[in-house]
Amino acid sequence: MGGHLDIALMVGMMLALVFYNGLLYFATSKKENMLYSFYLISGVVWIALSYGLLAKAFNIYGDGVFMLNLSVFTMPIFLVLFMMVIFETREFYVTEHRILNGLLALLVAGFCYGLFDIEGALVPASSLAALMMVVTFSVSLSILRKGHPLAKFFLVGHSFFVVFNGFAVLFYKGLMEPNYLNSHGVGIGIVLEAITLAFIISYRIKVLEDIRAQQDELKRLAATDPLTQLYNRRYFMAEAKSMAERATVLGQPLSVIALDIDHFKSVNDTYGHQAGDLVLKAVADNLQKFSRAKDLIARFGGEEFMILLPGADHSEAESCAERIREGVENHAVQAGDDVSIRVTVSLGVAQVSSATESVEDAANRADKALYAAKTGGRNRVCSAV
Ligand code: GH3
Ligand code: MG
Ligand code: MG
Repeated sequence: MGGHLDIALMVGMMLALVFYNGLLYFATSKKENMLYSFYLISGVVWIALSYGLLAKAFNIYGDGVFMLNLSVFTMPIFLVLFMMVIFETREFYVTEHRILNGLLALLVAGFCYGLFDIEGALVPASSLAALMMVVTFSVSLSILRKGHPLAKFFLVGHSFFVVFNGFAVLFYKGLMEPNYLNSHGVGIGIVLEAITLAFIISYRIKVLEDIRAQQDELKRLAATDPLTQLYNRRYFMAEAKSMAERATVLGQPLSVIALDIDHFKSVNDTYGHQAGDLVLKAVADNLQKFSRAKDLIARFGGEEFMILLPGADHSEAESCAERIREGVENHAVQAGDDVSIRVTVSLGVAQVSSATESVEDAANRADKALYAAKTGGRNRVCSAV
């Protein structure tokens, strides 16, 4: 029944999917791609058998071809393994995982039995297939009810398989008039399910990408200060450690600048807290503007900031601090239509003593220098001793 072109098209599509998923597996080492490829190969064998193609192609009707009926076991085995991987049943759906494992054990037992006596193994194959349908359907329904976004697609794909293979069974048993759909039922069912599973794989990549993007965003949020978008103290300290190691290895200098806004309390008192926030943001912008891209800038808390300058010795850090001081002094912050606020900053500079000193100790010395700048009259840069 049916033209060879249709069968060639089905097998061709499946083989293209096998090839593509093989490539994906080598590129990403994701288990689902490999399992899906094996499932497809079993499906291709099963389609070819159901049309008698393999027997024709090899012109042999012996046990060699007959053994390929083992694909009736391998196809559901790989499908169940595929389900376990894409739904991560071991981690998240323990009961369903146990049920799938039970089914898997039956299927593997059937496969092993078939290795020695394929005819014997095929006797219960249709009951096993029916059991497999019931189990995989119930498990995916249960996972759907628990809210997994991929379960509905899996159910759709699996329904294609069940419905079209159902037609085929009715046709083979003579319970239905032959027509295109039921005489091609096995092939159409397998191909439609295979295409839906391919969609699931691509959708899962999207889901995983979304999760990774969310995790990256959480990491970014955990590392930054929401008001100024600068790094926070915790991130600064963690990053400073690896930057210090790099500087030691490369034999390059490393310096640190501590900065505090002068009389900031009076800005808040005079113009209000919101205007104070605008000043904090403006100072943060100036820190970025007058430092280099590779410098690590953090808001340490309140109106205090810290900058780590890789590759900069004491005098280079001092001139950077002076640029910042001058930049802030000359920048008027617009806080409303006719409110313009000017602030100044005090800065302390210290170079990390190579290898013997931690960034934290150098930051403490920079802080002491900053205190000296405050007591010396503010709006100035002081160097650590
Ligand atoms: P000095 O020149 O000695 O540094 O004086 P100062 O007023 O800047 O120092 P002080 O430590 O007395 O005051 C710091 C002020 O910073 C007090 C606090 O209300 C304000 N502040 C801390 N965090 C924020 C913030 O996120 N937004 C605003 N608007 N103000 C803040
Ligand atoms: Mg201050
Ligand atoms: Mg302060």
